[in-house]
Amino acid sequence: LHDRLKDPSLLRDRCYIDGAWVGTPSRPVTNPVNGVELAKVPAFSTAEATQAVEAAERAFPAWAKLTAKQRSNILRKWFELIAANREDLALILTSEQGKPLAEALGEVDIGGAYVEFFAEEARRVYGETIPTQRPDARLLAIKQPIGVCGAITPWNFPCSMITRKVSPALAAGCTVVLKPANETPLTALALVALAEKAGVPKGVFNILTGNSSAIGKVLCEHPAVRFVGFTGSTEVGKILYQQASVGVKKLGLELGGNAPFVVFDDADIDAAVEGAIISKYRNMGQTCVCANRIYAQDKIYDEFVEKLSKKVAAMKIGDGTEAGVTQGPLINMAAVDKVEKHIADAVKGGAKIITGGKRHALGGSFFEPTVLSNVKADALVAHEETFGPLAPVFRFKDEADVIAMCNNSPFGLASYFYARDLGRVWRVAEALEAGMVGVNTGLITTEVAPFGGVKESGLGREGSHHGMEEYVEIKYVMMAGV
Ligand code: ADP
Repeated sequence: LHDRLKDPSLLRDRCYIDGAWVGTPSRPVTNPVNGVELAKVPAFSTAEATQAVEAAERAFPAWAKLTAKQRSNILRKWFELIAANREDLALILTSEQGKPLAEALGEVDIGGAYVEFFAEEARRVYGETIPTQRPDARLLAIKQPIGVCGAITPWNFPCSMITRKVSPALAAGCTVVLKPANETPLTALALVALAEKAGVPKGVFNILTGNSSAIGKVLCEHPAVRFVGFTGSTEVGKILYQQASVGVKKLGLELGGNAPFVVFDDADIDAAVEGAIISKYRNMGQTCVCANRIYAQDKIYDEFVEKLSKKVAAMKIGDGTEAGVTQGPLINMAAVDKVEKHIADAVKGGAKIITGGKRHALGGSFFEPTVLSNVKADALVAHEETFGPLAPVFRFKDEADVIAMCNNSPFGLASYFYARDLGRVWRVAEALEAGMVGVNTGLITTEVAPFGGVKESGLGREGSHHGMEEYVEIKYVMMAGV
C-alpha cells in the first residue's frame, strides 16, 4: 500500500494525542480481500484515553475563543487537503475496508463535503433575542460550544462517519477525541494527518486506536467530556447510553436499521430496480441505510424480481481496486455467517434462491450477491439487519398492509418506496416510522440533509444545520435593570 500512494506520509502507524504522534504500532490492520497485513497501529486503552480527553480539555478554551471565521478557515483548509488527496484516501479506504474504489472515492468526496459544509456553517451559529415579559429586562439565547466531544465510528464508512461528527464539533468550537473502528483506523489516521497539516491546533483533535470498550468507557464517563457521538450497532449504542447516564452526558446515536424498500404497482419498475441495487448492494449491503426488506406489490412482483435478479447476477465481484468491480469482500467471516444464516432461515420457510445464495468461489469473505423470492413475513431477515448482499423480496397486497409490515420493527432509520400516485406518495411518506424516507430513490445521504433515526435506530441528527445543533448548548441570558 505504501508504494502505491502518491503521498506515503498519509499512512500512519501512530496515534495523535495533544499534537504529537505517539504509541507503539502493535495491532495489525488487514486487507479483507486477502488477509494481508497493511500496517500496525497502537493498542491504547484507559490511560491514553484519559490523556487524550485531558489534552482536549486543555485545548478547549482557546479553540472556543477563536472567531467563527478563524475556525472556518482551518476547516476549509482541511476540506481542500481531503479533496487534493482523495485518491490516496480512497486507496487506503478500499485496502482496509474492501468497498470498490469508485465507492471509496464517493465516500471521500462526501466525507470532504461534510467538512466544507460545516466550514461554512461555522459562521452561522446564530442566537436569538426574545420579546421580554418584563419592561426592565432584555432576554436572549446564545449558543456556545458544548465542550470536549468523544466520537466513536464504525468500519463501514471509515471516512464520512468521522467528518460528519468531527467537522460540526470543530466548527462549533468543541475539541474532539476520536476512536475509529479497529478494522479501519488507517483512513482515520490519514484524515487526522491532514487536519494537522490544515492547522488544527494541538489538543483540538485527538485520535486513539485500541481497546474499544475501555476507550468508550472513558469517553462516556470522564467528567470533562460533554457529548459523545457514536455510529455503530444498537447493542453497543445501548451500552454507551447507560454509561453516559452516570454523568448525564448528551449522546448522538446513529444505530442499526432495518430499512424497508417498497415497490408499489404504479411505480416505474426499471427505476425501482436501479434504486434497489444502489440501496441494497452499495458497500456489499453493509450500510445502516441499506434496504433490508424489499416489498413488491402483487401485480408487479414477478417482473420486479426477474429484473432485479438479472442485474444482480451480472455484478462483478473481486478486489475493489480492480477496474469494473462492483462488489468486494465482506468485512469479515462473521458477516458471511450472518448472511448464510438469514438465507438458510428464509429457505427453510419456503423462500426460493433466484440468484447467488452461497460463498463466492474467490473464497475468504467474498459472498455471492443474492436475491430471494417468496420470503415469508416471519423470516429472520424481516426482523434483523443482514448487513450483507442479500435482497429478500416479500409480496404484499395493499398500502395499509405494507405500511403495517414496514412499521413492525423496533428500528426506524431509512425507508424507501417507489410510487407515482401523488396521494399515495404523501400518505406513505407520512406513515412510515423512520427518520428518513427516500421516494423514488435509493440513495438519500447528503451533507445538506439531516441524517438520523427514530425508535431504536438512535438519537439526534447529523449533517445539515441540525447537525450543528448537537454540538452547541443554548444559554439563556436575562439582563435586568435596563
Ligand atoms: P459494527 O457492527 O459496525 O462493528 P460496533 O457497534 O461493534 O458496530 O462498532 C462500532 C464502533 O464501536 C467501533 O469503533 C467499535 O470499535 C466500537 N465499540 C465496540 N464495542 C464498544 C464498546 N463496548 N464501547 C465503546 N465502543 C465500542
